[in-house]
Amino acid sequence: MRWSKGLLVALAAIALLSCTLLLSLADPAKQFTIYTPQSSYSIEILDRQGQAYIGLMELLEPLGATGMRSGDSDWVLQLNKAEARFTEGKDKAKIRGNSIALSGNVLVENHRVLVPLNASFSILSSLLHKNIDFHPAGRRIFVDNAGIHFTSELKKGEKSSLLLNFSQPVNPSVNQEGNKSKLVFKREPLISDITNQPFDDKAIRSLNFSEDNGNATITITGDSALHVSLGSDGKTILVQVVQPPAPPVASVSPQAPAPQPSPAPSVAAQSSPTPEPPIGTQGHTPPAFLVMIDPSHGGDDRGAYLADKLDEKDLTLSVARKLKIELQDRGIAVRLLRDADINLSLEQRAEATNAQHAAVYVAIHAGVSGQEVRVYTSALTSPSVGAGQFLPWETAQASSLSRSQTLAQTISGELRKKDVQTALLTTPLRPLNNIIAPAVAIELSSDRSNTQDLVTQRVQNVVAAAVASGIAQVHSQIEAQK
Ligand SMILES: [Zn+2]
Repeated sequence: MRWSKGLLVALAAIALLSCTLLLSLADPAKQFTIYTPQSSYSIEILDRQGQAYIGLMELLEPLGATGMRSGDSDWVLQLNKAEARFTEGKDKAKIRGNSIALSGNVLVENHRVLVPLNASFSILSSLLHKNIDFHPAGRRIFVDNAGIHFTSELKKGEKSSLLLNFSQPVNPSVNQEGNKSKLVFKREPLISDITNQPFDDKAIRSLNFSEDNGNATITITGDSALHVSLGSDGKTILVQVVQPPAPPVASVSPQAPAPQPSPAPSVAAQSSPTPEPPIGTQGHTPPAFLVMIDPSHGGDDRGAYLADKLDEKDLTLSVARKLKIELQDRGIAVRLLRDADINLSLEQRAEATNAQHAAVYVAIHAGVSGQEVRVYTSALTSPSVGAGQFLPWETAQASSLSRSQTLAQTISGELRKKDVQTALLTTPLRPLNNIIAPAVAIELSSDRSNTQDLVTQRVQNVVAAAVASGIAQVHSQIEAQK
């Protein structure tokens, strides 16, 4: 963990710097989704040399690959007894003894092997010897015929309805945008030959299927707002009109919502009867619930030495990126305090978090002193006594302490559900004490003898998913209290 105790620095000097640090961190991550018959996962897409790149181990390890480094520029990995060899700077790989073109050079950054996104088809086909279906524009790839299909059935009448039948249970998020209902499928391998299907109906006009950024979306356009409900088996979705079609000369003012005629339990979606503001007019208001992730250490501060040529600073960034994607998948706004190998002082980390009004702060650490994930909260005890407008810097955390402890307990509960041993601990050290919002530090840990565990994408994925679902639970509790 190696918390360093830096000197206190004047806050004014930091404010300017922290603003520049955060400017580049606001973009939503581009992601690539891999579907197999057993599971699905999304990985981050990076722009390198004008091309889309992905992390090789992030792509292959969930499929069972084990990585091994050999030599200075060669990287060899095993998957189901097949061997694949990648060489830094080369645009070919050797897989099962065959030379495979990669459509771009292999890059290595901080011991992370990157390959062009477009090479994912040839890499997976040659390694797995299974049917691979690559949808490059939608950033989705399907292994071994993974796929969920759907049919649609329009029932015309005084109140028209559209019934969607799925071949397997689904759980989309539903967004209402005026007269459009968007069903976004993040984890399901939903595929369709339809792009646009018009209906000969006044109330329900069309169904559109699209793929974008690792997701599939069904958009249903109505004459007015539509109501979406999910069947109890998860395999049907019913779309109905909220109001019968308005007469030709319709009033512009929003109409009162009719009682919802839903026979099935309603999806966790806001079926809003009032029109939402047009897209583009919402401006750049900060999200109400922003999670700040702190990949601890970085730059000259390498953190703990974890394994051969693996520093803590690289591992924390890798876990932070996974956590970011997991949170974004749950609809939660996220920023990373650093997304590169740069120096950041503890003061800068706390100051930037406070300045961005983060709702939650999560620091990521890693060490070689045990076999459990440790969840730390600040060891401050009593609420701050410093009255007045400004929170004392040294004890800024005191007022959020009980919420930090709740967050830590929720996260460790999620980790235990995934059979990860956890310990709840407190630490007197910074920057936790200087963060105004609920704040926790997560330390991945392993025995000296077993540091490969920490390096595996699978362990990192499990921890990132558990931490994200803990944060999502706390988020929905806060939402429910509103
Ligand atoms: Zn550390």
